[in-house]
Amino acid sequence: ALKAGIVGLPNVGKSTLFNAITQAGAESANYPFCTIDPNVGVVEVPDERLQKLADIVNPNRIVPTAFEFVDIAGLVKGASKGEGLGNKFLANIREVDAIVHVVRCFVDENITHVSGKVDPISDIETINLELILADLDSVEKRIDRSRKNMKGGNKQYAAEVECFEKIKEALYNDQPARSVELTDEERVLVRDLHLLTMKPVLYAANVSEAEVADGDNNPYVQKVREFAAQEGAEVVAISAKVESEIAELEGEDKAMFLEELGLQESGLDRLIKAAYKLLGLYTYFTAGVQEVRAWTIRKGTKAPQAAAVIHTDFERGFIRAEVVSYEDLTATGSMNAAKEKGQLRLEGKEYIVQDGDVMHFRFNV
Ligand code: GDP
Repeated sequence: ALKAGIVGLPNVGKSTLFNAITQAGAESANYPFCTIDPNVGVVEVPDERLQKLADIVNPNRIVPTAFEFVDIAGLVKGASKGEGLGNKFLANIREVDAIVHVVRCFVDENITHVSGKVDPISDIETINLELILADLDSVEKRIDRSRKNMKGGNKQYAAEVECFEKIKEALYNDQPARSVELTDEERVLVRDLHLLTMKPVLYAANVSEAEVADGDNNPYVQKVREFAAQEGAEVVAISAKVESEIAELEGEDKAMFLEELGLQESGLDRLIKAAYKLLGLYTYFTAGVQEVRAWTIRKGTKAPQAAAVIHTDFERGFIRAEVVSYEDLTATGSMNAAKEKGQLRLEGKEYIVQDGDVMHFRFNV
């Protein structure tokens, strides 16, 4: 499963947010492939389309798709030099697909701030610097290796050196690796380096309880937005403390509490949606009488590999997929009507699954 890692300085609200995530907890029986680990929280991805499909199919149950948040506590200044448990945390970040960076935007005299005052931009830069230094180390090692190999006269290594030098230059200028423009070939070269600053980032601006309904008016949040805009990163204003209270409620109670707070949906749901988008993921659906269910794939996945998300047998024995788009199906109102209109397509092995496709796989066992 794909994972987003939660990072941030101490005392910014990471644990509070992570507790809200585990409290809101996905029904784990539905997600047997997810990790069982106290530092991993499984979340269901809210998707309005599931209910619309259920209205058409009347299934026994609805199962949203899920992904994982990993709590990466303990990232502090000096981590890249191996201070504290620094290296271990950096290794944990290497394994995630995206980063949710929690920044403190709430003022509370009773809660110590590691650097003495609330200053989200300086906090972001402190963490980013550790990630940049760690990447610089990886890149420099790789450049040395490629240069040695280059002496054999192989052009491939010259291309590597050129590519890695571009990244090194950016890192030296305090810019993340993801800010460097790369060709498709270069992207492949860089991929095995597993650079930390290559991963997409989302900032979760933790505001106080009082500002939960209009977090965007908080001046710290505005600063974070300006900063993020330069990097092309997203920001979600959230109150971790309020989220941990919301997460304890369900159904009617939850709806009422949200209404009292003046919220359309929980901050956690907004965060989950934003993280899902950040991961560059698509959702396809299966819709049968047993269940209507959402499944996650990466953009560009072909039908057999999309089928493998459900079961590896589906990939191995893949014959064809029957596909109708969510839009067509909901507009016509039934599977039969979609079939009559010719909206139900038969697709083969090379079909690239689109977001919102409603799929039925035919396979040999
Ligand atoms: P971590 O070190 O980043 O994991 O931070 P914690 O989640 O442990 O939070 C540190 C302290 O800040 C705890 O005492 C939390 O109760 C408090 N805290 C977290 N979020 C908020 C918030 O939105 N408002 C206020 N006033 N306190 C918060």
